[in-house]
Amino acid sequence: MYDLVIVGAGVWGSSAALAAMRRGAGSVLLLEAEIGPAQRTSAKSGGIVTDLLWHPHDRELVRRSRTLYQEASLGADDPHLWQAAGMVTLGRADQAELFATTCERLLRRQVPVRMLDREGLGRAFPALDRLPADMIALHTPDDWHVNPTAYAQWAVSAARRLGLFVQMSAPIHRLELHPRSVAVHLADRTTVEGGRLLVCAGTWSRRLLKSAGLDIALRPYRTQLSSVHFAAPHDLPIVWQLETDLYLVPEGERELLAGDGTEEGESDPDAFRETGDAGFIASVAERIVGLTSRGDGAGVRTAWAGLCGATPDRRPLLGRLAPHLYCACGDQGIGVMRGPALGELAALVALEQAEAPELDPLRFVPSEFPIRPGFTLET
Ligand SMILES: Cc1cc2nc3c(=O)[nH]c(=O)nc-3n(C[C@H](O)[C@H](O)[C@H](O)COP(=O)(O)OP(=O)(O)OC[C@H]3O[C@@H](n4cnc5c(N)ncnc54)[C@H](O)[C@@H]3O)c2cc1C
Repeated sequence: MYDLVIVGAGVWGSSAALAAMRRGAGSVLLLEAEIGPAQRTSAKSGGIVTDLLWHPHDRELVRRSRTLYQEASLGADDPHLWQAAGMVTLGRADQAELFATTCERLLRRQVPVRMLDREGLGRAFPALDRLPADMIALHTPDDWHVNPTAYAQWAVSAARRLGLFVQMSAPIHRLELHPRSVAVHLADRTTVEGGRLLVCAGTWSRRLLKSAGLDIALRPYRTQLSSVHFAAPHDLPIVWQLETDLYLVPEGERELLAGDGTEEGESDPDAFRETGDAGFIASVAERIVGLTSRGDGAGVRTAWAGLCGATPDRRPLLGRLAPHLYCACGDQGIGVMRGPALGELAALVALEQAEAPELDPLRFVPSEFPIRPGFTLET
């Protein structure tokens, strides 16, 4: 029997595995269905890390995650694991008060930020040459683009060096609660036992927990991203347009990722459309051209969809569900920027070395709550 079994090697589970090893958790096994760490939702993400989050605790989680991403970049000797691309958040004149309050709040925390009007925007970012006259912006130069898969791979390697046991290509079929442990039944009909079990299975967590007779208030929803190729260098920073929920993430001189927000309906993690919709692709292209003339002649190379996990209050579900059984999920579409810190916190809670009562996964009765965006400035 292992002291701790962790299910799921996305950003959260990989980080949890490293934190557990560092905190002397004893024998720890990480189980993952895919052939390597962070091959599913974490690999589909835009990789934005920003301080522009509505919840104060989330902003702290981003701060801690930045430290862990930096450590991984040094440890892996990978200078591209995180990059300070800077972000421009675009709003309309009627959002000036929200922008001013956000700006003040960030400055109080010593986060570099400036507010720009249309003229200032044009001077600082000439590539954004098709904006309406009443456009305003927040520029957060220290916002990042990260590579979550590289982070997870580094975290698992570092944890392995501390003695972590890892089983990849190991889909779990069912969980079973025992008086002193949790049994994990794998699809290949083998079983492992954990004195404690931490489920970090992203949007698959609810289904897995149901196999042990437990339910949580998690609703998976679909969100899309595309890879766009420009005919010439685009010179764009990360851009987030609040009005249309469009976000752009530069990936090299002529490439960027372009995505948008939240689909309101629930999706089945084992049966959803993983390719981008034709309507999404057309509307992304149209919105890019509405922001910059550099978009003329740009083409969408490919588009994909992934699932994020909504919760009633848009905060994670992290903590104890039953004796010996813990979970950490409910990313609300912003789980890469907080993932390293949330994984670490989940491990400490599972080891009873920390508490997070505000994230108690049992604080809601599972129900049909509305799915709302998590990446927003408004509470
Ligand atoms: C299109 C898109 C863009 C996004 N952009 C951003 C962004 O810019 N910034 C940001 O912060 N967030 C973003 N997100 C959200 C982010 O990707 C997620 O919040 C994050 O990846 C969640 O990480 P995780 O480790 O919880 O889940 P996952 O990465 O899904 O990891 C869960 C793991 O559990 C494994 N697993 C599941 N079931 C089983 C089982 N039965 N047996 C064994 N293993 C199992 C899976 O294979 C998977 O590897 C985006 C998401 C999408 C879809």
